[in-house]
Amino acid sequence: MRPEILFPLFAPLSTLKGVGPRVAPLLARVAGDKVRDVLWLRPHSIVRRTPAVLSAAIDGQVMTFEVAIQDHQRPRTSAQPWRMQVADETGLMTLVFFGRFGEGLAQRHPVGARRVVSGRVEESKFGRQMVHPDYMVAPDKADEIPEVEAVYPATEGLPPRRVRAFAHEALSHAPEMPEWQDPAWLARQGFPSWREALARTHNPEAEADLEASSAHRRRLAYDELLAHQLAMAQRKAARRREPAPRIAAGALAGRIQAALPFRFTGAQDRALADIRADLAAGERMSRLVQGDVGSGKTVVAMCAMADVAEAGGQSALMAPTEILARQHFETLSGPLEIHGLGVVLLTGRDKGAVRAAKLRALASGAAKVAVGTHALFQDEVAFHKLQLVIVDEQHRFGVAERQRLQAKGPGTHLIAMSATPIPRTLELTMYGDLDVSRIEEKPPGRTPVATRAVPMPRIDEIVGRLKQAVAGGAQAFWICPLVSESELSDLAAAEQRAKALRHLIGPGVGLVHGQMPAAEKDAVMSDFADNKLSVLVATTVVEVGVNVPNATIMVIEQAERFGLAQLHQLRGRVGRGRRESACVLLYDPPLSETAQQRLDILRRTDDGFAIAERDLELRGGGDALGLRQSGLPDYVFADPFAHRDLIAAAGDDARLIVSRDPDLKSERGQALQVLQELFDWKAGLALRDAG
Ligand code: ADP
Ligand code: MG
Repeated sequence: MRPEILFPLFAPLSTLKGVGPRVAPLLARVAGDKVRDVLWLRPHSIVRRTPAVLSAAIDGQVMTFEVAIQDHQRPRTSAQPWRMQVADETGLMTLVFFGRFGEGLAQRHPVGARRVVSGRVEESKFGRQMVHPDYMVAPDKADEIPEVEAVYPATEGLPPRRVRAFAHEALSHAPEMPEWQDPAWLARQGFPSWREALARTHNPEAEADLEASSAHRRRLAYDELLAHQLAMAQRKAARRREPAPRIAAGALAGRIQAALPFRFTGAQDRALADIRADLAAGERMSRLVQGDVGSGKTVVAMCAMADVAEAGGQSALMAPTEILARQHFETLSGPLEIHGLGVVLLTGRDKGAVRAAKLRALASGAAKVAVGTHALFQDEVAFHKLQLVIVDEQHRFGVAERQRLQAKGPGTHLIAMSATPIPRTLELTMYGDLDVSRIEEKPPGRTPVATRAVPMPRIDEIVGRLKQAVAGGAQAFWICPLVSESELSDLAAAEQRAKALRHLIGPGVGLVHGQMPAAEKDAVMSDFADNKLSVLVATTVVEVGVNVPNATIMVIEQAERFGLAQLHQLRGRVGRGRRESACVLLYDPPLSETAQQRLDILRRTDDGFAIAERDLELRGGGDALGLRQSGLPDYVFADPFAHRDLIAAAGDDARLIVSRDPDLKSERGQALQVLQELFDWKAGLALRDAG
């Protein structure tokens, strides 16, 4: 139930004065369909209407003058504007009106009348003029003209000044709210009240008032972040209350580990220990394991699967593509089957009797582990005793898809795996309802990938070397970015590139792109993985986690267009083995200073987490990182980078609140419920969260 105090803000736009059936859809295009959404608009700049005399007019500036009307020049043809001569003691100006203004103008502004006009001054070949003044009022109404005016986003048919008027109208509908923040914290931060903060947002007095660092903006950002963190903390607490199978670490995993040709890194040991603590706790686990491609997440998951199997349960590992699923199957089936644990690979390709046999093995419990694609969560797939779900490249799946798989067993534990390193500062906003383990260390013995930035004009040289390397048995990825508005022209560019390389290097050049049917894409990828192709041209990051150990060269065209983290991930596809690998970043010169810095970082370090952190600093916002796609929420006031200190504080605050007042029943708790409602961040809205 929505608290009554919020009714005016959740009312339709038509409750705002001046918003009728014609304006409402226009305003909805700029804001949203509720009064609250208009209240949440923010001016993006301000205009100063400097009062001046005409002799001090400056070309191109918005200024305000008090003038007398001297003459009207009526248009002789309909194409001509209406012109009005005005003057003060220091000079002359022409006001210009296009369109059908007619005699009304002359009646409203008779010769001899005094007017205050405000608008942009232009010095033209017709002399000084002002086209369509923003304001034109009698001197006793001059205070209707703001000296500092906030400029709002607008749309066709709804100019910024009308949007501003509606925002002010919405502000007048905003009630005083019960304070949901801790008064001591507010005082320490110097934050205004919620309503004061909004009032200041809509009445900026200087540029500084528009900045993310202003006290009123930080207050609103904190409100929003707290609402979100609170929802996640509540969800986490609720999950912990759900009963889940208690699974103890067994001896089998240790035997499997001992048989591997390598030893776990410290980071892998820690991640496994985290998982085991969760599994033994009798609470439902939701743990994200973050680690670069090749950091060894899959073998960690394998040990957890062995624990579950030894305790009599089943596990399912879901990957976003068939080729990834197959690679996981190959990694897991050997070590697990030696110890008598049946592993089944289930993809969309399975048909008829083979598929039926696999389904039977899962339903009877004969198979302890299922590895597969989307095929896993289909209705016909049933498990005997599913207790652990592992989702690889978790951001490639919808929450609903993951939940369908989890629903195939009671209280199933979840491990989500991701090779996209999230900066620590953003971890809370993206995964606040999950527990996170980071694998920050790479297995030993990998040679770092030699990374070079090369200007595009030297592409022939690169192709020449590529040809040599390929002749010597090497394999290479060649990435063409999606850059233009049209996917088709990008595709054409990639096709061209593939053609040119085929011409120069030979027929072993394949092409994959986003518009190919999945099966066709998989076929090309497999050919490359099986070394039937030596060069793979790809339009985007087609297969993030794909493992082609023989590939040692990565060429990235227009590298300056990619985010650092993305470049790092692409680079991670080579350098899997002991052989020397190379990454060539082709760029269109000249490089901007930031682009230069970014490429330098990549050359200097191989630590995905450090790179993600630097990328965020250099670009100053989660948006630019393309993180929204991978689950960064769409905040109204909060800027994940500028307000990163507030994210941490809101996370702490939320945990404290939930531990003291889990049902938000205290006085502050009730105010917090209003806050959550206000921002639509309610614990019940499960589908918006990752866990
Ligand atoms: P991720 O899933 O994190 O990308 P994988 O688990 O697929 O990484 O591991 C990549 C490769 O590294 C695999 O061939 C795996 O057998 C190997 N590997 C994993 N852990 C280690 C380790 N500690 N030492 C050496 N090799 C390892
Ligand atoms: Mg992987």
